[in-house]
Amino acid sequence: MLELHDITKSFDGGTVVLNGVNLKVKQGEFIVLLGPSGSGKTTLIRCISGLVEPDIGTIKFEEKHTSDTSKKNLQNRLGVVFQDFNLVENLSSLNNVLCGLLSTSNKFLSLLYLFSTKEKLEALDCLNRVGLLDKSHVCVSRLSGGQKQRVGIARAIVKKPGLLLADEPVASLDPVTSSAIMKLLREISKEFGIAVVCSLHQVDLALEFSDRIIGLANGEIVMNEQTKNIDQAKIQEIYSGQTNGLTFGPMMKVSDEE
Ligand code: ADP
Ligand code: MG
Repeated sequence: MLELHDITKSFDGGTVVLNGVNLKVKQGEFIVLLGPSGSGKTTLIRCISGLVEPDIGTIKFEEKHTSDTSKKNLQNRLGVVFQDFNLVENLSSLNNVLCGLLSTSNKFLSLLYLFSTKEKLEALDCLNRVGLLDKSHVCVSRLSGGQKQRVGIARAIVKKPGLLLADEPVASLDPVTSSAIMKLLREISKEFGIAVVCSLHQVDLALEFSDRIIGLANGEIVMNEQTKNIDQAKIQEIYSGQTNGLTFGPMMKVSDEE
């Protein structure tokens, strides 16, 4: 359902951040991206969502190239979950979930919060699915981090996307909550047949919840393996630069935000 072909990207003519990335994702597949900080995970996810334009390479989503003509198709079929939740703090959970419909429903009506009954029922259904039906009218600012991310997930799935992108969705949560959120993401992926591409820095969560692990180092895929065939020791190769007996150059390039 998603095909990346030879995706290459550098910023301001500088270092190559993504270097010839090829990847195919199947419907309902749960993919985790692992790799050292600065390896290109966020840039790759932003290329898929259309926020970053690759210098070279093509992206096919549901059999169509994501050229300008079909960008709208991509936006309508894409859900995004953020590390810092990206919710409107002074709105209720329900209204935040309804925001997930803004790109697909009538913009004028939605600006006035005049969503249809059908849309409100769908939003409530999603809140129910993430276990927060009883918080639908509670202001998001009063929710815990884990509850906020559940609202974020409900907002991402309300328009029934084919693909969910999640860049470090549990990076600001404690380990127990992180595990619960990853479990929920996986269940939703399987229940609704939604493909998930999720970056993580927790190896244990990647091993527990993904179908396939993609290892990135220096903007290149250094591992592309079914999770059931991977163990902790093999995973460390992504971080140490040792894959299939090959040694990669120095790669602990630290990203700007650190
Ligand atoms: P990761 O998510 O794996 O930590 P990123 O994709 O955020 O990696 O970053 C990869 C590299 O690209 C880093 O060296 C980072 O500084 C650089 N980079 C990312 N976005 C930009 C940008 N908008 N402008 C310039 N450099 C960027
Ligand atoms: Mg990142």
